[in-house]
Amino acid sequence: MSFRAMIAQVEALVIAVPAEGNAFAEDDEETVLVRVTDENGLYGIGECITTPTVTKAMIDMPTVNFWSKGIRDLLIGEDPLEAVALYDRVYHSSFYHGRRGTLIQALSGVDIALWDLAGKQLAEPVYKLLGGARCPRVRPYATLYPGDIYDQPVAEVAKPIREQAEIAKDQGLRAFKVPVLFGPEVSDREIVAFSEYSRSMVGDDVVLALDFGYRWWDWYDAAWTLKRIEDYDIHFAEAPLRHDDLDGHRRLAEVSPIRVGGAEFAAGRWEVREWLERGGVSLVQPGVSRAGGFTELMRIAEMCEMYGAQLVPHSYATGITDTASFHLQAASLTVPMVEFRSSRLSPSLLRSELVSPAEPEIVDGYAALPSGPGLGLELNEDLVNKYTKVGY
Ligand code: MG
Repeated sequence: MSFRAMIAQVEALVIAVPAEGNAFAEDDEETVLVRVTDENGLYGIGECITTPTVTKAMIDMPTVNFWSKGIRDLLIGEDPLEAVALYDRVYHSSFYHGRRGTLIQALSGVDIALWDLAGKQLAEPVYKLLGGARCPRVRPYATLYPGDIYDQPVAEVAKPIREQAEIAKDQGLRAFKVPVLFGPEVSDREIVAFSEYSRSMVGDDVVLALDFGYRWWDWYDAAWTLKRIEDYDIHFAEAPLRHDDLDGHRRLAEVSPIRVGGAEFAAGRWEVREWLERGGVSLVQPGVSRAGGFTELMRIAEMCEMYGAQLVPHSYATGITDTASFHLQAASLTVPMVEFRSSRLSPSLLRSELVSPAEPEIVDGYAALPSGPGLGLELNEDLVNKYTKVGY
C-alpha cells in the first residue's frame, strides 16, 4: 500500500509590492497567493485575481454551519489527487454564502494549488493530469495596455499602442488585443477609424481582438460600430455591452459580423452557461484564477464545444495565472489562445519575480507545452516573505 501525503495546510497570502511602472495598479500591486502544503512539506501554488482581502476571508473563515463551511476546514486532511471531488465538496458546502462571485474566485486559486501539488507529488505536469495535450503548443495573446486612456483623445493613444505592438512582436507574439477603452468624448466614428488604424498598425498576419471595456448601453450603437469594422478581421469584440445585459448581448450577437466576447467576470460554469444560452455569445473569457480553477474551466471548455463557442480565458496577473492558462489550453479543445501579460509591456515586480520561469520563450506566436512537475514553476520565497501583508 502506497503512502499518500494528505493536505496539512492551506494558506491565503495577500502579497503587495510597489506598483512602479505598472499602469493597472494604484499604490501597490496586490495578488492573493494560495499555498497548499502536504504532510511532507511539498506545496502547490495558485492565485486568485480579485479583491485580495475579501478573497482571503473566504479561505480563512471558520465553519459557520452545514452550508457555510470554511475552505481550509474542508481541505485539511484530504488528498490533493482528488481535486475535482474537493472542488465540488467546497461548492456544495458553501451554498449559504457562495455559489458565485468571491467564493468561486477564492476556490479558483485553491484549485490551481491542488492540481499543482498533485502534479508535484506524481512528478507530472498538470495538463497531463487533466487528461493530456490536445494541441502541440500553446498560443498566448498580448494585451496591449499603455495605461488609462479613458480621458484621452484617440490621437494621443495611437503612438504608445504602436510602440507596445512593436515590443510584443519583438517578443515573438503574433496575437494582440488592443484596448478601445475611450470615454464618451470619443465618438463611435472615431472608434471605427481607430479600429482601422489598429489593424494597419499590427499588419495582416497577426490575430487582432478589440476590448471595448463596456462602452455601450444600447446594443444598436454597438452593432452600428461592429458592422463598420468587419473588414479589419477582428477575432473578437470584448465587453461591448454592460456585463449583465445578456439579452442585449444576444441581440448584438445575432447581427454582429464579429464574434462577441463576454463573461470575463463570470464565476463558475452555471453563470457561463447563461452567457452561452441566453447571451448567445460565441466566445467566453472567464479566467482560470477567477472562474473556478482548472476543475471548473475544464468543464467550461467542454461546455463550449457543445455551443460551438471558444474559450479565451482572461489572465492579467502573475506568471502563476499565465502558466495555468497554458496548461488549460494544452488540455482543451476549445481554447485557441490565452491572454498573456508580458512583463515587457506591463512592468511589474510580481509579474517578473514571483515565480520562475516567469515567461516562456515565444517563437512565431507560439510557446512549447509547459513542463512539470505540476505547473512547472518555482516560487520566489524571498519575495513572498518580504511582501506578504501581515494582519490580513
Ligand atoms: Mg478584459
